[in-house]
Amino acid sequence: MITVIKKMIGGVPVPGKKELSEKSPIEFAGIPGELVLFMSQHIGAPSVASVKPKDQVKRGQIIAEPGGFVSAALHAPTSGVIKAIEPRYHPVLARMSEAIVLEPDGKHEPAENMSPTASDLDGILPEQIRKLAREAGIVGLGGAAFPTSVKLAPPEDKHIDTYLLNGSECEPYLTADHRVMLEQADKVLFGFRALMKASGVKRGIMCIEDNKPDAIEAIKQAMSSYDGLELAVLSARYPRGGEKQLVHAVLGREVPPPPGLPYDVGVLVSNVGTAYALAEAILTGLPLVERVVTVTGEGVAKPSNFKALLGTPLSYLIERAGGFTGTPGKVILGGPMMGRALKSIDVPVLKGTSGILVLTKEQAVEEPILPCVKCGKCIDACPMGLQPLWISAHAERGLMEEAESFRAMDCIECGCCSYICPAKRPLVQWIKMAKADITSRRKAQR
Ligand code: SF4
Ligand code: SF4
Repeated sequence: MITVIKKMIGGVPVPGKKELSEKSPIEFAGIPGELVLFMSQHIGAPSVASVKPKDQVKRGQIIAEPGGFVSAALHAPTSGVIKAIEPRYHPVLARMSEAIVLEPDGKHEPAENMSPTASDLDGILPEQIRKLAREAGIVGLGGAAFPTSVKLAPPEDKHIDTYLLNGSECEPYLTADHRVMLEQADKVLFGFRALMKASGVKRGIMCIEDNKPDAIEAIKQAMSSYDGLELAVLSARYPRGGEKQLVHAVLGREVPPPPGLPYDVGVLVSNVGTAYALAEAILTGLPLVERVVTVTGEGVAKPSNFKALLGTPLSYLIERAGGFTGTPGKVILGGPMMGRALKSIDVPVLKGTSGILVLTKEQAVEEPILPCVKCGKCIDACPMGLQPLWISAHAERGLMEEAESFRAMDCIECGCCSYICPAKRPLVQWIKMAKADITSRRKAQR
């Protein structure tokens, strides 16, 4: 069954810029001279190292165990020697953080115990899939990096009836998910069916934006071999792929405000990259040691989609994409709407890294911030039905309790309000400040 969906609350029609990299097939980026693997590259407790400096490791060998129930294992992306376990600068946490540093030997030798678990889903039980997802260190590859094995075991009082596989990739410039769906449609659907089996969910809906017609065609063809999978084709509008936005558009269900999650309304949502990673783990035994990363933007010579080993320096990937076209104006980890500007490109690919965007100097010029003209455009654009002008106005003045009363914590940080604001006010930055303050106050009160 195919459903076409156009409705959406709020959002903005951002230029996609997908044409820069969407025709670039996924290429293996190669093995750099050093891989830096952070213990914290997922939501939850950091992993705990199970190797020490000078240990020899092979590709796929476990190098850090999960540090708790909500945590993830870490594996060696290639063979080599452990050079150090030391703090390195973490590009998302924006501080020093413990990492395992691996010096590859160039042999790319696999671990002896790496072998397929099953060749079809009849040969594997739901609990085996959940166990494998945990052992393989799989987390949500859409950016959130939430451990998949935990997602697959929601609390017993939640009655899940639908699984959405998110292939929207609404963030401008990024094309990693697009290429995975186009080039690996069968494996994506295998992984999706594995997610459904592991969670006991019978209804599965594949969700793709209509700006990826070739990927829609590839998925449609692959779907024809299976009963019970549905396809939702959604009109391209940012932030179409936000979990809450997707659940509302496809199923008409409203996810409650934080800490509410899609499972509160009977839904699980995963990203296509996660499904692909799970398929790889089942069919080949390869744990999560690599991912597809888009390296793109007007500031890079040859926008590309790479299969990159986790821990690969971003500088290495940019070089593989032909290097900078001139002096870059800004390098962003992720896309232009939700990504974060980097101070240095000597930081590694993490499990949640979907793209690197290089903007030119001209594109990165910051416009002056003007007073609010009360036009209301930020309110119309907010997909969460918030009043960004009032949250940010209070946060700017340090009035965090007032910002909280305007539902600052419901903000999904999509950036639509800042994007649309004619006065160029950095609304989302102020809202993030308010959220950080409210969170630390709540923690202190516990
Ligand atoms: S869009 Fe900008 S100028 Fe318009 S109301 Fe919101 S903050 Fe004010
Ligand atoms: S207030 Fe938050 S959710 Fe609303 S548009 Fe701004 S960033 Fe997005």
